[in-house]
Amino acid sequence: MNISADRKIVFVAGVHGNEKMPVKALTEAGVDFILGNPKAFDLNVRFTEEDLNASFGTLSASYESKRAAEVLQKIHEDDLVVDLHTTEAEPVSFVIIVDENMIPLAERTGIERVVIMKHNIKQGHALINHRDGISIETGTHEDQRSYRATLDVVNKMHKNTKHPVVLYEVYDRITEPGEYTNFQQHPMGFIPILANESAYELQGLFGLKARRL
Ligand SMILES: [Zn+2]
Repeated sequence: MNISADRKIVFVAGVHGNEKMPVKALTEAGVDFILGNPKAFDLNVRFTEEDLNASFGTLSASYESKRAAEVLQKIHEDDLVVDLHTTEAEPVSFVIIVDENMIPLAERTGIERVVIMKHNIKQGHALINHRDGISIETGTHEDQRSYRATLDVVNKMHKNTKHPVVLYEVYDRITEPGEYTNFQQHPMGFIPILANESAYELQGLFGLKARRL
């Protein structure tokens, strides 16, 4: 697959309406981007009816399902998406991909940790299941580091140089509550990713199990 610099990069932020730092950073830096979920953003909530990042390619009557179709219309199939998020968990940045062909794109971000999520938690309805691209967890919701990480990614993407990455592969879910530190090997043998996220815990998911590749 061609990840050359001639493919247009489309930045997306605010797919989850309470994840404001990337939106703030891109706006203040004058970078063009698509605001994923404007209604949830205005209300400062993750979503209004259902998770937008689990609504791409769905045909439900919810605001998010309709909004997902609108967002896809704005992004050409030849474009490369860089979809910026924040989390509640530890303030580490990492890249999420669902397709190994996106590793070269991830290498342009300057972010070391790259997580391959084939064991998909969005049932194939995330934005990056429907367009070539990457999602980035820039850091925690209210942290200035998430703001700086966003701008750092924008600058590095434009330079189009390759940075070394460490690859992780998600292979299962964490279904029991417990003490998990993201990206640190757990005594049970897995590396937790996206643990300590209340948005997931509500669904009985306490994080994801990954291994180093
Ligand atoms: Zn998010």
